[in-house]
Amino acid sequence: MTASKPLAVVTGASRGIGLAIATSLQNAGFFVIGSATSESGVAKLRDALGEQGTAFTLNLADVQSTESFVAQVSAIGTPAVLVNNAGITSDNLSMRMKDEEWQNVLDTNLTGTFRLIRSFLKGMMKARYGRIINISSVVATMGNPGQVNYCASKAGLEGMTRSLAQELGSRNITVNAVAPGFIATDMTNELTDDQKNAMLARIPLQRYGEAADIAHAVVYLASAGAGYVTGQILHVNGGLNMG
Ligand code: NAP
Repeated sequence: MTASKPLAVVTGASRGIGLAIATSLQNAGFFVIGSATSESGVAKLRDALGEQGTAFTLNLADVQSTESFVAQVSAIGTPAVLVNNAGITSDNLSMRMKDEEWQNVLDTNLTGTFRLIRSFLKGMMKARYGRIINISSVVATMGNPGQVNYCASKAGLEGMTRSLAQELGSRNITVNAVAPGFIATDMTNELTDDQKNAMLARIPLQRYGEAADIAHAVVYLASAGAGYVTGQILHVNGGLNMG
């Protein structure tokens, strides 16, 4: 398989924000390669993407899985756009947080994402073109009780975004992050109604975000028009945090 259109890779594209990003990038003219953690997720994602895309399994916390994903993508082409969307939570108050809960979140959200970016850098640098877009979170700036691991991973992702932007600017590769606020997906569905209502009361635009709100921001950062934007954190949060 070869892609005649520019290639966009979206991790964690099987549902939620990632799926919205994947389909929006397709509509914007990209051939999209998405990832899911399971074969059944890959099959569903391939159905959703149709002929202008495909999908492979990826577990960012697993080095071998990442290498195999990179090999499958590279057989198709060099990504013009890499959207690092996959992420997990494993919430607990700090005094109860187990090493495993800390490590899983950091391994997946931060270390795994770095490893994936690094794997594609040679090709992107050779192509002298690239758009790397990392999906962070409003809590990287605000903090959130019960999410020390997740907040640390997303704050790390933002620091990494700025450093990479400085390293790669001379190769015409931009590196930015989108920091979503509260978006209605499986991830936030785990919260209690009380937690959801308390959050809603703090959002000036008086609604939860939708996955499409984040996809629009990603499509902008992937576009030709965003060619002079790099090292930025684009907040899409309904005003929840105005940093
Ligand atoms: P979601 O509905 O929970 O989906 C998570 C995606 O990541 C799925 O595609 C999942 O694949 C994939 N994934 C899970 N573990 C993985 C691993 N170890 N390796 C690779 N992929 C893995 O999440 P979401 O709400 O759409 O969030 C997407 C991104 O936005 C995340 O980075 C999240 O931190 C960020 N974010 C979300 C919100 C929000 O309010 N929802 C707010 C701020 C930031 P499977 O389907 O195979 O499990």
